[in-house]
Amino acid sequence: MFRNFKTVDRIVFGRGCFNQLDDILAARRASAGSSIVFVVDDVFKGKPLEQRVPLHRQDLLLWVNVDHEPKTTYVDQLTAQVRSAMLERGQTLPVGVIGIGGGSTMDLSKAISLMLTNPGSSADYQGWDLIKIPAVYHAAVPTLSGTGAEVSRTTVLTGPQKKLGINSDFTVFDQAVLDPELIAGAPRQQRFYTGMDCYIHCIESLTGTFLNAFSKAYGEKSLSLCQEVFLEDGADSDDKLMMASFFGGMSIAYSQVGVCHALSYGLSFVLGAHHGIGNSIVFDYLEEFYPQGVAEFRQMLVKQQIDLPRGLTAGISEAQMEKMVEVALVLEPLWENALGKQWRQKMTRERIRELYRRM
Ligand code: NAD
Ligand code: ZN
Repeated sequence: MFRNFKTVDRIVFGRGCFNQLDDILAARRASAGSSIVFVVDDVFKGKPLEQRVPLHRQDLLLWVNVDHEPKTTYVDQLTAQVRSAMLERGQTLPVGVIGIGGGSTMDLSKAISLMLTNPGSSADYQGWDLIKIPAVYHAAVPTLSGTGAEVSRTTVLTGPQKKLGINSDFTVFDQAVLDPELIAGAPRQQRFYTGMDCYIHCIESLTGTFLNAFSKAYGEKSLSLCQEVFLEDGADSDDKLMMASFFGGMSIAYSQVGVCHALSYGLSFVLGAHHGIGNSIVFDYLEEFYPQGVAEFRQMLVKQQIDLPRGLTAGISEAQMEKMVEVALVLEPLWENALGKQWRQKMTRERIRELYRRM
């Protein structure tokens, strides 16, 4: 069976296009008094972007904190907060949820828009196609580029048992607002780590067994944009990085990621390493799987003057190691993409431990 792939309905791209957001949302505000919820990374509190959010009187500005990657408990709490704010306004649901921030904030906005219409806890929906009721209209405004969250059909959440996305067609954004000016102010290291998430998406997609012409077309273009951004640093790097992220997301949407992402999920679940930095730490030890990609990644580290953290797993307990292995092994499609159908014979628990021990 071929996947009948759901994409973002509308995309606006260009420097300054964020200024069009109010016009774009006007069509949503059909009835007077309807509300829109802006889910905004609190890093922008007091910054010029705050003043540019097109808030109307009845709207809700929901600041979110992403010092930790999104948890299901946080999503449930934010959803309850939106519900009670809507009740105060005499409404049941907002007409839109707009995520303004990096991958974490975009994921929170996706999850809130889903949980406003679906009963229970967001933890109940971690998995594939468990969501049955369409979400509230939701739009992405990335302020960091690389994760591809603006285009993907998942929202990655850490739950009580696992780190796993809510994967569904209803998760996909209705609108993406891709304004390269918004990523210009990101801290240098964060920009690099999030950008490497995209680079690694491309390498894992392009070398995987699930590769096909669709994924290859997007993956190759995204890869060459990453190379221009991180090895050449041209004037229009922000524009290129934004499109690289989008295309990288499109590439893995129709293939899969691989060894690096599987191991990075374990690292993140147990040690709290953020996705971009976790991927970068792991990728540096994967020469045997991705020789060309790792060599080029190291050139990028030098060019961008990045010192990777080392010795992360040095003092961890046996129980922590066991949990990391477990979390990584759950991600079967990733292993199959990287190593083929017989991946279990190639990637034993002991081999995973050995890789983790080196980090
Ligand atoms: P992030 O959203 O976690 O943000 C990282 C840091 O950068 C935060 O401190 C944030 O406040 C700050 N920040 C964001 N934009 C900024 C800006 N313009 N200026 C200054 N600071 C800014 O980072 P990320 O790497 O974009 O996202 C990682 C998250 O995305 C993880 O939670 C990961 O699980 C998720 N993810 C999701 C998908 C998906 O398809 N849904 C794919 C990959 C990763
Ligand atoms: Zn990723």
